[in-house]
Parts: sequence; C-alpha cells; structure tokens
Amino acid sequence: MVPPGAAHYAAERIKEREAGMQGMMMHRPLSIIEILRFASEIHSTAEVVSVRTEGDIHRQTYAETYARVARLAHGLAGLGIAPGDRVATLAWNGYRHLELYYAVSGIGAVCHTINPRLSAEQLIYITHHAEDRVLFLDTTFLPIVEALADKLPADMRYVLMTDRAHMPESKVELICYEDLLDGQEESYDWPEPDENDAASLCYTSGTTGNPKGALYSHRSTVLHAMETAITLYSSLREGKRVIPVVPMFHVNAWGLPYAAPMTGVSLIMPGPKLDGASLFDLIEGEQVDAAWGVPTVWQGLLAEFRKRGTHPKCFTDMVVGGSAAPTSMIEAFEKMGVSVCHAWGMTEMSPIGTQGLLPRELREAPLSDQIALKSRQGRRMFGVDLKIVDEEGKPLPHDGKASGELYVRGNTVISGYFENAEATAEAFDSEGWFGTGDIASIDERGFLLIQDRAKDLIKSGGEWISSIDLENVVSAHPKVASCAVIAVPHPKWDERPLLIVVPEGDDRPGKDEIDALLLEHVAKWQLPDAMEFVDELPLTATGKVSKLTLRKRFADYKLPDAG
Ligand code: ADP
Repeated sequence: MVPPGAAHYAAERIKEREAGMQGMMMHRPLSIIEILRFASEIHSTAEVVSVRTEGDIHRQTYAETYARVARLAHGLAGLGIAPGDRVATLAWNGYRHLELYYAVSGIGAVCHTINPRLSAEQLIYITHHAEDRVLFLDTTFLPIVEALADKLPADMRYVLMTDRAHMPESKVELICYEDLLDGQEESYDWPEPDENDAASLCYTSGTTGNPKGALYSHRSTVLHAMETAITLYSSLREGKRVIPVVPMFHVNAWGLPYAAPMTGVSLIMPGPKLDGASLFDLIEGEQVDAAWGVPTVWQGLLAEFRKRGTHPKCFTDMVVGGSAAPTSMIEAFEKMGVSVCHAWGMTEMSPIGTQGLLPRELREAPLSDQIALKSRQGRRMFGVDLKIVDEEGKPLPHDGKASGELYVRGNTVISGYFENAEATAEAFDSEGWFGTGDIASIDERGFLLIQDRAKDLIKSGGEWISSIDLENVVSAHPKVASCAVIAVPHPKWDERPLLIVVPEGDDRPGKDEIDALLLEHVAKWQLPDAMEFVDELPLTATGKVSKLTLRKRFADYKLPDAG
C-alpha cells in the first residue's frame, strides 16, 4: 500500500527536477582571511622571513603572523577604516605588507597596492581615483610622499611601516605602524564577507593614458590561489621556501602571498634588495628552493652566478613571466639544474593565465626539445579559457599555425575596470571574453606562444614581424647583454625593425654577425634594418623593457635606405 503523502512527495520531487535540481551542500563564502587562519593552524611553523628596510632579517611564523594581523585589524578599526574603504600601500615585499594584505581584506576593506615606480602624475591620479583613506608606506618611499603630499587626497592619513626607534622627522604627519599594533588583542572577530566583495585593487602600469584599476574579490583571489597551488606544484608544496621577487605592489605578487600560506610554503621576502648579488646571498643563506620574477631580474641573478662561478644548489625551481623569457636564459638556468616554468598573464587576470611546467611525457624529451617548449608561454591553468580570433573576431584553430588576438575568460579575469566605463566598454567582445591585446598562437597540446603585443608588432609591407622572435635570437649572442627591437617608420614599408643592443663588455657585436645568427632562425626580409647601442634599456614600472620610451627616443630615426 502506498503511504499517505507519498504521491505528494513524489510530485514535489518531479517539480524540483523540472525546475533543475539544486545540490544539497553547504555554502561557505571564499574568504581571504580563511587562508591565513588555516595556515596558522595547519602550517603554523612555516615562516615569513623578511629583509627589512631597517637593514636586518626578520622572522615570524604563520601562527605569529595571524596574531599580528588580528592586532593590525584592531589598529585599522581604530583609524576608522570601514568595510569598502580603500587602504593604500607603498611598500616592498615584507611581513608588514603581508599583514596588511590580510588585515585590510579581513575587516572588509580594500587593499590598494601602489607601484612606487609610477610617475608622480599617475600616483596622484590613482590615489584620488581610488579615494584612498590611509596610506601605509615603507621608509624608502617617504621622500616620494613628502614631495607629493600636497597633491594627494587632503584627508589621507599616513602610517610609516617601521617601529618607534626608526621613526624619522618628517613634514608629513606620520603614525608608527608598530604603535598601531601595540597593546591590541591577538584575536579578531572577522566579519564573514560576501565572497564577491572587493578585497584588493591594483592599477595597470598604464603605458599610455591613465592607469586602469583591476578590482579583485575574495572569491577571485582564493580561486586564483587554489588554481596556482594545483598547477605550479613545483614551487607550491608544503615545506618549500620561495622568494616572491615579483613585487607585492603589483598584482599581489602573482598571488604568492595567498598561495604560499595555503600550501605551507615559507615566504622569503627580499625587501628592497633585488640585485643579483643580494638575491644570491638570500637564496643561499635561507636555503631557498624557488623564486618567481620577471626576466630582467633573472638576467641579473644569472650574471651573478657567472661572476661567482657557482650557484646555490638548493635553488631548483623558478617561475618567470611578465614578458617573454629569452630562450638563452632558460637554457642557462636549465643547464644549472634550475627548472624554469615560463608563465604568462596580466594584471587583469589576477595575473596568471598559463604556466609552462611540462606534462610527464615531455619531461623525458631531450633537453633541447624541452627548452624549445619552455620558450613558449605554457598551457592554460584550470579555470582559465583561451581563444584566439581573427580580425573579424572569428575563432581560429589551435593548430600551432594560426595566430590572432588572444581573448580570455574565467573566474580570475576582471569583468570590468574599476570606475572606468570607457575602458570597460572597449575591453570585452560580444560574448564577454576579455581582449588581452596580445597576438598569439596555440598548438594542439595547448601550448601558447605569445608573438607580440599587438602594439609592438612591426608591420612591414602588409606582413608583420615579431619583435619577441628577433630579441630571442639576438639575446643569445655572447656579445649581447640585452636587447630590444622596435618599429620605426619607413616610407616604403610603413615600418621596419630597429635593433637596440646593450653590449656585454667593450667588444660590440657587428651588424653582420648579428644578421648571420638571425638568418639561422628568421627570413631575410625580417632582419633589422639597423642596430644602435645603448648603455641600458629603459624599464617600465613593472620592470619590463619600455618599448614606448624607446619608440619615443628613436621616433625621428632615419633608417639607412629610408631616403
Ligand atoms: P604583469 O604585471 O603581470 O606583467 P601587465 O598587465 O603589466 O601584467 O602586463 C601583461 C602583459 O605582459 C601581457 O599582456 C603580455 O603582453 C606581457 N606578458 C606577460 N607575460 C608574458 C610572457 N611570459 N611572455 C610574453 N609576454 C608576456
């Protein structure tokens, strides 16, 4: 016999299924402070080691960090910081900056990291645009703030990230960071965020026009940390010691300050010392396993390895990205036993989109094949979708041959620019994918190859030449320390490539020997029309070669056959 109510129950279930059936699982918001709470319990003895602006090395565990973060949260509340307020930082990689990452988002406010290498005009613009209420700064950056204070938001408060003994005299009214923590409780009743709440804000370096803000959420940040933790497993394993050479003032140091505590990795913070010799000593002294940074930093470290004729044996893994890593550099590190992972991404992507750890079947390939693959920008991380499209926006095949503009989609990609409708309107296609401005191909196995930024390609007589391709070959020449290729106007071909070289030592390479090397890899019509020497290449605020500055510097350059 059918029990009473059973028919009704069955009808309800059918209705539910027709409406689409919901899973019956708890919903806990993804929240940044939960990462550190987890680390304080599960990876409590993993360390945060910091080279301080005070000159010494400071150590604390994740358990100690969590307690100090609670004290800082009370301090922030005491300053009147409310949920949604923007708290700016102008600081190196160090434990106090890490504490701000967690305390600011922990109380529901937004941590706005400012790149100190931005121009004065840009700094003024973004502090006003973000409506920053308080600025935490390292002592190094006090002169910048003193020079600009009159033009920064009038009600801004300034906290100097040091202790009482190191507080300087200043015309700016300064609060001492350690005073803010003094006597505060070591626990905090963290409010539960909506996981879509804003947690941190980072502006693009804005090579043209004003910088644009990427506003990350708790959800995107935790997901990015989880995605990198499962993907970049060679650095992110419990017990490892990793240096974020990538600055915490730009794109959250590629998410390492979140992924490291999540996985039980110790963070070794280099502070202001990013030159080859300092990094060498820090790697050896702290027995560091891995480091993440842009190619210019690794060139400095490689020069130091060569100078000392040795390298720290503990250092076995490196992540490089931000601009194309030259093949010759990858090869040099690989031959020393340092496994190189070439990653690609951008501020708008939290930032990592692809990573270059090789799949198992390719890890047994001859080293030269592995290096060729590692010169590409790797394969997409779980959660990030890639497509390349032609000029009409039609998707192109992933066959390693077709190339077009790269578009991305995913939970860690921006859905718009902060308070900037104009830039937002131009950034997405009709299906909601974000246009990266990079020209790329993708092969059948999913390996991405960035050919160039669209604006750096050299358009020559209806064809185009990849500046990255030429730079990659030329930088392998023994008489070349570094180089860049830019487009200069040409009356017949529209644009032709100009090669700019920083020579290695006094023996400058001849154009014919460079051409001979290039001809082993590229067609004759792609050879640079001329070569110029400079003492150093100009860098952008994120440590990449500034092609914009070079293009301006060589704007009136007359190529030999340009009439
Ligand atoms: P980030 O600060 O993470 O470098 P930016 O937003 O300043 O991000 O720059 C992103 C751009 O840098 C990309 O669109 C791309 O042109 C370039 N880029 C990043 N990584 C690589 C890479 N591995 N190879 C070539 N270009 C890269």
